[in-house]
This record gives sequence, C-alpha cells and structure tokens, in this order.
Amino acid sequence: WARSLRENQKLIILGRVTASIVHEINNPLESITNLLFLLQEEPGLPEKAHLYLTMAQQELNRVAQISRQTLNFSRETSTPIKSQLDDLLEEVLSLYSRRITEKKLTIVRRFETHGSTNVYPGEMRQVFSNLVANAIEATAAEGRIEVRIRAARKWSDPKVSGLRITVADTGTGIPLTVRRRLGEPFFTTKGQQGTGLGLWVSQSIVERYGGSVQLRSSIVPEHHGTVFSIFLPTNLRPSAVSHQGEFEQARRVN
Ligand code: ADP
Ligand code: MG
Repeated sequence: WARSLRENQKLIILGRVTASIVHEINNPLESITNLLFLLQEEPGLPEKAHLYLTMAQQELNRVAQISRQTLNFSRETSTPIKSQLDDLLEEVLSLYSRRITEKKLTIVRRFETHGSTNVYPGEMRQVFSNLVANAIEATAAEGRIEVRIRAARKWSDPKVSGLRITVADTGTGIPLTVRRRLGEPFFTTKGQQGTGLGLWVSQSIVERYGGSVQLRSSIVPEHHGTVFSIFLPTNLRPSAVSHQGEFEQARRVN
C-alpha cells in the first residue's frame, strides 16, 4: 500500500507537470499550425515543399491530439450548466461518424432519460469522446457499439442518485495484464497511434464530479468486448468546482 500511495503521488505530480507544459506549448503550437497552413496556400510552392509541409502538419496534429487529451478539460463556462448528456453523446458520435461508417459499425442508442444534469459540457464531451474513440478503435469491422444513459444509484452508496452512462463494444476486450495498468497516464497498447491519456483524463474528470468509472471486459472468443460505465451523481455539489484552481487557466477555451 505504501508503495502504491507513493506511486500515485508521483503520477499526480507527473500529471500536473504535464498539464502545465502542454498549456505553455499550446499557443505557439497554434501559431505554427496557422503558419504552415498559410505556407501551404502559397502559390508556386514546389511539390516537394508541399509534401514536407503535409508531413509537418501530420506531426503537429499528433502533438495537438496529445494536448487535447491532456488539457481539454475544457470549460466554456465558469460554472457547470444544465446539459443533456444524450445531446453531448450525439455530438461526439457525429464527430466520429466517418470512422463509424468506414468500419461499418452499428451504433445502438438506449437513452432511457435525456440525462439532464449540471456539468461543464466540454468536459463531458471529452469523456464521451475518449470512451467512444476507444470503443471504435477496439472493435473490428461490422462490430457493434451501444451507448446507454439511465437513472441510477451509486452502487457503493445507494443514497446517491445520479446517471449511468455506458459505452459497450464488441471489440477485442481487455486482458488482465492491460487492465492492471489502465490507471496509468501514458499507458497505451497502441504504440505510436495511442497517447495513453484518454482513460486517465476521463477518470480524473469523472472523479471531480464525485462520480466513478467502472469497467467490465471479456476476451473470451465469441463473447469478447468491453463495457465502460460512468456513474455521475446528479445531486451534486461539484467537487468539480473546488478543484478548479490549479488547472483553471489551462481550461479556458477560445
Ligand atoms: P489510448 O487510446 O491512447 O491507448 P487510453 O487511455 O484511451 O489511451 O486507453 C488505454 C488503453 O486501454 C488502450 O491502449 C487499450 O489497450 C485499452 N482500452 C481502452 N478502452 C478499450 C476498449 N474499449 N477495448 C479494448 N481496449 C481498450
Ligand atoms: Mg484512447
């Protein structure tokens, strides 16, 4: 236990350092992206230059992706606002619609409620986006992803009522060796394609709302797949607000 506490503290510090570095890097990054774009539009540019610029833009996209996953604890408003989680989920699904169509995935929606609650919508969009992206990435062509929202009670404390949001896929499933490491930032099984930040960021957002993330997964042939489910209390005094100090600047959205 002592060891894992120390490890946890290290991870928390690492997270803060990362967040502040990424924040500092974000603005110049944005300028570079704009400059490259302008250069790309310049008439008479040799073909080779176009090629190099395209490659540079791809690499920049990757940096931007990492920074989005770390920092886009995006808070468009200074207080949580009444939002409908089904709408936020729909927005996220439409962001991924191309990949969903390309992979011929079936999306099943089971919204038993609109999931109306006070949140920072940008944060929730980000959590959903991370879970949906993982589900898409894990699922083979013609697989199925089910998203659910329903009223629920916290299993560890039934006095707390709230919402349960579930993203279930028929993907590869998560082997135990991977599952053990899921709490770690930067842990990914996707090599260069992954950042290993999606789950870590999602979990920290959800926990700030006093919520929790649960996982069920199976790698049994024929029945493999993963279910991520988030419990969000609705009678919340967001501890979201009390934590906001240190990351606040970073969370501002243009
Ligand atoms: P990344 O997606 O960049 O790898 P994440 O934090 O989102 O980082 O996920 C960490 C790891 O958890 C992934 O690399 C993958 O191995 C595993 N994982 C997450 N979601 C799923 C899923 N739905 N099905 C299978 N594996 C998953
Ligand atoms: Mg991911």
